Amino acid sequence: MLKPITKQYKDLSTADRFGFAFCCDRCGKEWRSDTYTFDINGFELPIDEKIRSMLWNQQHEEAYERANREAGAMFNRCTECGCRICDDCLIQAELEKDGTCKDCGDKNNQI
Ligand SMILES: [Zn+2]
Ligand SMILES: [Zn+2]
Repeated sequence: MLKPITKQYKDLSTADRFGFAFCCDRCGKEWRSDTYTFDINGFELPIDEKIRSMLWNQQHEEAYERANREAGAMFNRCTECGCRICDDCLIQAELEKDGTCKDCGDKNNQI
């Protein structure tokens, strides 16, 4: 299983839907991924419980990886400490430059 992009994430998946929330490493602000509906993949109902759970696990992992990738694009990466932060926690010195988190920014200001 892929490592989550932020330190904290929540699995919001249910028996028939997949969804995830990722939290900003600094302020904990939550970003929620799209939700995806569980698809029985052409199997006829009533579906065997073993097949259902196999399909569910497979799709759950795919949904997680997709959400994790999306989260990677949503959160900024601090160039100093490497934490993943939301736009509110980002300090960008110049527009084209990657920024740092406010904690690292404060540290730099004190020197
Ligand atoms: Zn934040
Ligand atoms: Zn930082």
